[in-house]
Amino acid sequence: VWSNCLAFIKDNIQPQAYKTWFEPIDAVKLSGNALSIQVPSKFFYEWLEEHYVKILKVSLHKELGEDAKLVYVIKMENTYGNKQPFTEKIPSANRSALKSQDVDVPFNNKSPELKNPFIIPGIRNVKIESQLNPSYSFENFLEGDSNRLARNAGIAVANKPGGTSFNPLLIFGGVGLGKTHLAHAIGVDIKDKYPEKTVLYISAEKFTQQYIDSVKKNNRNDFIHFYQIIDVLIIDDVQFLSGKTGTQDVFFHIFNHLHQNGKQVILTSDKAPVDMQDIEQRLLSRFKWGLSAELQTPDFETRVSILKNKLYRDGVEMPDDIIDYVAKHIKSNVRELEGAIISLIAQSSFNRKEITINLAKDIVEKFVKNTKREVSIDYIQKVVSDYFQMDVNTLQSKTRKRHIVQARQLAMFFAKKYTKASLASIGSQIGQRDHATVLHACKTVDNLSSTDKQFRKYVEDLSKKLAL
Ligand code: ADP
Ligand code: MG
Repeated sequence: VWSNCLAFIKDNIQPQAYKTWFEPIDAVKLSGNALSIQVPSKFFYEWLEEHYVKILKVSLHKELGEDAKLVYVIKMENTYGNKQPFTEKIPSANRSALKSQDVDVPFNNKSPELKNPFIIPGIRNVKIESQLNPSYSFENFLEGDSNRLARNAGIAVANKPGGTSFNPLLIFGGVGLGKTHLAHAIGVDIKDKYPEKTVLYISAEKFTQQYIDSVKKNNRNDFIHFYQIIDVLIIDDVQFLSGKTGTQDVFFHIFNHLHQNGKQVILTSDKAPVDMQDIEQRLLSRFKWGLSAELQTPDFETRVSILKNKLYRDGVEMPDDIIDYVAKHIKSNVRELEGAIISLIAQSSFNRKEITINLAKDIVEKFVKNTKREVSIDYIQKVVSDYFQMDVNTLQSKTRKRHIVQARQLAMFFAKKYTKASLASIGSQIGQRDHATVLHACKTVDNLSSTDKQFRKYVEDLSKKLAL
């Protein structure tokens, strides 16, 4: 039955997608009109449900009639104390052992809830699900200048978890730049190389929630014990712990225990340790023991390769000039970059339109408009000095020449308008003494733009340039 379904699916989707999403599936059982298929992970199952549920349905109806049912069996990753590698084929006699998580999926039900897969009490052991997303691999994490240090440190850690000086490894950077992806990639690679190691990925938010629950239920010690048996602990978005002293305290103890026992800790954060607020000093100093590696915004070439890789994996073809166009206009965030490509594909397939540069323009425009662009003070100074054909040093100089003073005041005015920086910080970044100078500049610009026509034109032109 299943091979007939596969043949049908193969004829109807992209070869790359077929290879990625259907070849790894094993049919395990047919009882009546219910077919059980085994998929490698929870993520894999969710992806199938999200992207291929229709074609699965059609193919199964053809084989088994309108009442056909599909049961997903999710292969378990790592049983604590069980050395069976994740990728190994399981002999059919052992299959029942894997079925701790059958998910019975009626087709009409959009997204059935999985039982919480976090801890599955077995008869003898406790299984710890790694909570890793296998598609967040190193292979899929494209390297560029913006992430080279962090990516390579991640690879070093994955080769020798706990055995490098990068412990903890802290990955930091702005939203949508790949912190979560890279953190998973390290875990995925470790599971691949050391299947017997217990790896756990968890967000700081969920960690906090679990801790609070454990206190309520009076089993704080179980909570601590659970974390102390982990070999590789990955905590995402540790800035979430700020101000949460109880959770910080318990994390401090867990961290020390793991570190002393040569276990690997991987953390991500939206800020460098020096900039983290309301995190206890003793924790911050621990964070600095290892390596802090920053993820910066990727350059154009890296953005293009990220897009190409994504399209390739999804089995979608797209002309180069369109890829270039998207990469050129969406700069600050990889998540948005992917979002734009996804909606481009969606638009073209819903409306059966060809993907043209005009369609790309429409979509990119929507993306750029929808996202509040963060303009930096450096960028403002650059735009203003370019506009007045001077260089940034001249703009910042102490000179009292009128046109330079005006340019400088405009830069301060826009910095106040477009950034969240304090007056004092704007002043010092634009080479001024104090916040009073900035305040004065803002007032002057306001006054002049309502009295001086030429000046008003400067403000309008610059607003356009800065607003993109
Ligand atoms: P963050 O956790 O920093 O907010 P994510 O890890 O969620 O960012 O990344 C956002 C999206 O961008 C994800 O889909 C991720 O796969 C993708 N991404 C980020 N950096 C890269 C990269 N270097 N190569 C490929 N994909 C990337
Ligand atoms: Mg993240």
